[in-house]
Amino acid sequence: MSERDSGSDLASVRTRAERTGNGWRLTGTKMWTGGAHVNDHAIVLARTGESEDRHAGLSQFIVDLRDPHVRVEPIRLLSGEHTFNYCHLEGVELTDDALLGRPGDGWRQVTGELALERSGPERFLSTLPLLTALVGQLRRTGGGSPEQQARVGRLTARLSSIRQLSLGVAAALAAGRPADVQAALVKDLGTRFEGELVNEAREILPTAARFDATRGSYPELLATAILHAPGYTLRGGTNEILRGIITRGLELSR
Ligand SMILES: Cc1cc2nc3c(=O)[nH]c(=O)nc-3n(C[C@H](O)[C@H](O)[C@H](O)COP(=O)(O)OP(=O)(O)OC[C@H]3O[C@@H](n4cnc5c(N)ncnc54)[C@H](O)[C@@H]3O)c2cc1C
Repeated sequence: MSERDSGSDLASVRTRAERTGNGWRLTGTKMWTGGAHVNDHAIVLARTGESEDRHAGLSQFIVDLRDPHVRVEPIRLLSGEHTFNYCHLEGVELTDDALLGRPGDGWRQVTGELALERSGPERFLSTLPLLTALVGQLRRTGGGSPEQQARVGRLTARLSSIRQLSLGVAAALAAGRPADVQAALVKDLGTRFEGELVNEAREILPTAARFDATRGSYPELLATAILHAPGYTLRGGTNEILRGIITRGLELSR
């Protein structure tokens, strides 16, 4: 979905798919394409028509990432990890069966996909391994003080309630009911929890965060979480944008 100037304002995507004799030609650059260097295919949102309505004239295509007209360029994370990429689409020729759904339905499809992405477990479980390691570390040192236990208990209670909300959105989507607003709410709660858990862990059990410590150990997970935390409230739509969606949804339901 995302491009350099089209993250929050996704309807402004500039990647274009133009009609050719027997299909489409795709041109543009996508940004933050997760796993494009290891995956075989990507789903690309592109403009296929002009319209006064910015949400019309968008379509989705399934693109073979091994096509010689696709160039993948790494975007390194703060940790140095290579997960995300630029994806340069340099006149990729597509046959008609690469179109996902119907032409012009791209916006409806993308907002449906985002409802799943925003409410799913990856929006509140990023730092669960850190919480698990924290509990393990406390257990090894006698279980922790009453204050440490109470703080871990509060984190666990929050996690449990966000999980219930996430399951509620999954049930609504499975029943075919729209849940964009509820999903935005879950992502706002979930991603703030993920980030706050890191700061809480640092206070509950102060430890030097070390990226080079044993993989899966508390110091290593702490270092990983600190370096990843800035992205939690950005990826999948920033919290400011989500609150706009929530506010509009609440106003409509009044
Ligand atoms: C680690 C990571 C992984 C990602 N993975 C993917 C991926 O797999 N696929 C994909 O397509 N994209 C992905 N993204 C992109 C992500 O969805 C965008 O970064 C996000 O939507 C924000 O867009 P932007 O970066 O263009 O920021 P901008 O839209 O330029 O926003 C900059 C700031 O301005 C604020 N802002 C913008 N408009 C408004 C407004 N109207 N009202 C109030 N505040 C506003 C934003 O909240 C933000 O704080 C990823 C991003 C990150 C960091």
